[in-house]
Amino acid sequence: MNTAGTAQVEVRHILSDKVTGGVLKPRTRTITWAAARYVVKRPPSGKHTVDLTCTECSASLLAEVRDQSSTRTIATVLRVIAALSLVVFVAALAYAFHEGGKTLPEGQSLPTLFPISVVAVIVTFVAAPTLYLRGRYYNGVSMLDAPKPRRRHRIIPVRAARRVVRTRR
Ligand SMILES: [Zn+2]
Repeated sequence: MNTAGTAQVEVRHILSDKVTGGVLKPRTRTITWAAARYVVKRPPSGKHTVDLTCTECSASLLAEVRDQSSTRTIATVLRVIAALSLVVFVAALAYAFHEGGKTLPEGQSLPTLFPISVVAVIVTFVAAPTLYLRGRYYNGVSMLDAPKPRRRHRIIPVRAARRVVRTRR
């Protein structure tokens, strides 16, 4: 966890983002970036904005930083929703298997709840791990604005305490 009053982030400048394969070969996504780490101050309460500079292209990025307690609250909420998604996933999967495995008498269709449970399985299968990771790494810092194209920059939470600003290729 970050020390109270500060948050660590990594400013990433996306150099390339390529997706190959997809038809015959498995899809692989290759992203390369240059990154710089920053320690940002948290406000005593509420949220404030900070300016971060990309070391790669010297673009200035606007980030929003929340205070320690609301950051913790949001992270907890995300983890609770992730846990609920997991419960729904297990229940919907069990139900789908139960109903889908039945041999139905002639002319009888599956209950309406069956397609709903299948959709629930798919949605929660994606949502549960995503929300869990979001909650685990959430540090209250989010990017508000960046020069266009916006997709070229990302602000990533950093957990490990490291004070040096470094670049990576
Ligand atoms: Zn940049």
